[in-house]
Amino acid sequence: MSKTIFELSTKGRKGYTLPANDVDIPLDEIIPAQYKRESKARLPEVSELDVMRHFITLSHKNHFIEKGLYPLGSCTMKYNPKIHEVIARYSCFANAHPYQPEETMQGALSVMWELQKDLSEISGMAQVTLQPVAGAQGEFTGIKIIEAYHKAKGNTHKDTIIVPDSAHGTNPATCSLVGYKVKELKSDANGRCDIEHLKTLVDENTAGFMLTNPSTLGLFETQVEEISRIFHDVDALIYMDGANLNALLGIVQPGKTGFDVIHFNLHKTFSTPHGGGGPGAGPVGVVEKLVPYLPVPIVSKNDSGYYLDYGHEDTSIGKVHTFYGNFAVLLRAYVYIKMLGAKGLRRASENAIINANYLMARLKDYYHIKHPEYCMHEFVADSSWQKKANGVNTLDIAKRLLDKGFHAPTVYFPLIIPEAMMIEPTETESLDSLNAFADAMIEIAQESKENPELLHEAPLTTPVRRVDDVLAVKKLDPIFPIKN
Ligand SMILES: *Cc1c(COP(=O)(O)O)cnc(C)c1O
Repeated sequence: MSKTIFELSTKGRKGYTLPANDVDIPLDEIIPAQYKRESKARLPEVSELDVMRHFITLSHKNHFIEKGLYPLGSCTMKYNPKIHEVIARYSCFANAHPYQPEETMQGALSVMWELQKDLSEISGMAQVTLQPVAGAQGEFTGIKIIEAYHKAKGNTHKDTIIVPDSAHGTNPATCSLVGYKVKELKSDANGRCDIEHLKTLVDENTAGFMLTNPSTLGLFETQVEEISRIFHDVDALIYMDGANLNALLGIVQPGKTGFDVIHFNLHKTFSTPHGGGGPGAGPVGVVEKLVPYLPVPIVSKNDSGYYLDYGHEDTSIGKVHTFYGNFAVLLRAYVYIKMLGAKGLRRASENAIINANYLMARLKDYYHIKHPEYCMHEFVADSSWQKKANGVNTLDIAKRLLDKGFHAPTVYFPLIIPEAMMIEPTETESLDSLNAFADAMIEIAQESKENPELLHEAPLTTPVRRVDDVLAVKKLDPIFPIKN
């Protein structure tokens, strides 16, 4: 364990200089005694270099994409180009105020207008709201829009949304939050929607369908047109969870295949650093007949320029966030789209798919893969072979990967694959880094035969060893005991 900043403190050392007072400020008169500390604040006394070394050392204990591959399935931990950060910090954007008069924020409005337009084209939808600030909030917005559509049509009996068992966990949660009942649709033997089961679930009370596509199995749902017909026949709407759009850019326009609503995860597909709980953006796209229900405002354009359009306020579901959402994230996505262009976006998706398939091909002899056919941008392997033969489970493998310098895949998800390891390498990894990861996974498969004890003990080299999950959940103390 490295020293805390207080342990580094050496009396008299300092890393700051303050300008001399040019006026004498009578602090004792200005600040009443009850607001003053009784003793001097305990601050570490350290030099600038001490502080820099301390924080750089701490940052290295973490894992981040600039340090190594981050194959966290469904999360699209791709490299985020630094040009986005430079532009997001331009003072003209960073210092803009949401209450500024429209004529002084034409540049910012044009960014949002263009982004609405580009996302509409990418998704094949008629219009997009940029307001939601997370994928899950995009889902909420989208399902509220579906609810508003049914209310307007007097479809008051519609109270159920159908969600496949291969959906992202947020999907059923979103439906419940809006007030819908959820019926679970089974996957068939190919990991796709079981159409026969679907037919038994859909009836007049069905308000909609929520499909994660590609699914959490990394598989593309091939029967969307038929699914769309089944739902539209009972005036139900279909929603695509587009958080995994990284597989589809320039290849599929969901709005053209029958989907009525989609959300995007700009912080995944369109490249904003995420994973540390930082700001995100979950815009929602809709077909023409749902445009009146979008949150207000959207950005429109007329002869005198760009403006905030409240025109559909009476039918809108209202606002889901203050002002326009997370503008700096929108800006990053705008730069990403404009820099790659249509061809570049398609290449990004193609490479994401190729990289995932390459890894799957390298690992398939060492790990069980329930759906070994071609995948999209991710695939699900599992540790059932290792568990059966040597008692090594997915948690052991995930922890051992940390020792080898990689972030673990998403584990124990999707729930329909026991001991799941959901692997998403993304397009920004080179062949060399894919090979390094595959080699590490293969070494671990070998270790599981030769030295299963080692894997139960892993990680051995990280600053924090394996934590006691059970105790950590029961004893919510920030400094819970750590094994070893
Ligand atoms: C990440 C993800 C979400 C949720 O997005 P957040 O921005 O974390 O709220 C929803 N669905 C899928 C498929 C995802 O991968």
